[in-house]
Amino acid sequence: MKSSADGTRPPSVDRLARSLASSGLPHPLRVEVAREAIAAGDVPGAARRADDLRRALLTPVVNATGVLLHTNLGRAPLAGAFTSPPRSVELDLRTGERGSRQAGIGRLLAAACGSESAMVVNNNAAAVLLVLAALAAGRDVPVSRGESVEIGGSFRVPEVMEQSGARLVDVGTTNRTRLADYRRAIDRPDVDAAIVLKVHPSNYRVDGFVESATVDELATLGVPVVVDLGSGLLDASTPWLPGGPPSWLADEPAAVQTLRSGAALVTFSGDKLFGGPQAGIIAGRSDLVERCRRHPLARALRPGGLVLAAMQETTLAYLDRDHTRIPFWVMAARTVGELQERAGSIAQRVEGADVCDEAMESVPGAGSAPGVTIPSWGVVVDGDHAATMRSRATPIIARVRDGRTMLDLRAVEPDDDALIVEALIDLAPARSR
Ligand SMILES: *Cc1c(COP(=O)(O)O)cnc(C)c1O
Repeated sequence: MKSSADGTRPPSVDRLARSLASSGLPHPLRVEVAREAIAAGDVPGAARRADDLRRALLTPVVNATGVLLHTNLGRAPLAGAFTSPPRSVELDLRTGERGSRQAGIGRLLAAACGSESAMVVNNNAAAVLLVLAALAAGRDVPVSRGESVEIGGSFRVPEVMEQSGARLVDVGTTNRTRLADYRRAIDRPDVDAAIVLKVHPSNYRVDGFVESATVDELATLGVPVVVDLGSGLLDASTPWLPGGPPSWLADEPAAVQTLRSGAALVTFSGDKLFGGPQAGIIAGRSDLVERCRRHPLARALRPGGLVLAAMQETTLAYLDRDHTRIPFWVMAARTVGELQERAGSIAQRVEGADVCDEAMESVPGAGSAPGVTIPSWGVVVDGDHAATMRSRATPIIARVRDGRTMLDLRAVEPDDDALIVEALIDLAPARSR
């Protein structure tokens, strides 16, 4: 056997693991990587294997895609990094006894939505499931055929309905469903309608010969109307934005107005247009919210302290009408002029690297406001450099179109412009080769 000193024998697992310290991985994982590399006869590849593993962990990135709520990037970004000091999640500070984790946030959300009551669960899929299970298990729920949708990630209305124990009653047709169609379904002797469910089609759009019943109309049916809003625009008049509602929001249904129109309950996501953490909000009549709260599934679907803290921060910002504390609205409110100036400055700083700035179109993303674009500005460089950009220490996620790499600045923090400049400068020698 060769001695370890001559360097040809495989190094010990421990030595190889120690040599991977710069990967930043904890020791037990470095040991695993070292073992795998030795077993595969790939000792020289150990560092790359460690890097691959580190990159499979959550990594901060620069979102230059122009998709503001990018599901692959965790939808709405949050301000600051959330640490978790002890919090009064379920402690009533007045009595010192066990309290409700829903009481504080429920109160804030109800105030923000203009509803009697509200509660939070883990996501909107959970909110819809809980509402159906608590209010309609073993009973019937009329839904328009035009709203029996799949949102993606296997959220399909008929399947969620089945899991909840409620029975779906199809109403109307794919493109047209009128109030009379609901009336007829509810009046059928074999139908025991617990609620009527209206679902925002979110990620698709039917144009042309279409008709659907409004919430005001449905509210006349005498059965509680539950509206799954999905995207979670809080208030169509956006009082938290200095300039009023942007035009790209025009057709988006909002919680405040939907409840005012007579919905008994609304549900929506915390991390779409609401701009908070991943969560699902149920808001509306207090007797119905109370039934959701008391249902056994509520315990399985309840959010943790980190999510509650982030929801609380976001909701307080809305109540203070301060969009600057909600990163999604900061992105949405950036003016094209501001973005054009930043793009021009980036192009100037990488002068000679063949980068130009030009107008772009961002999208809200996450199935919110489908087909709608937001005017934006960014920088462009010839060639497909998406993989190179992604492989940087702080990955930059770009879009490639027609053989050009496009970096849209609307979702990029101004402090990160410097990272884009560095990346573009690093590209230059590769391109001139
Ligand atoms: C996005 C969406 C959902 C799912 O919400 P999650 O928070 O992703 O669970 C459900 N319904 C509608 C209408 C949606 O747009």
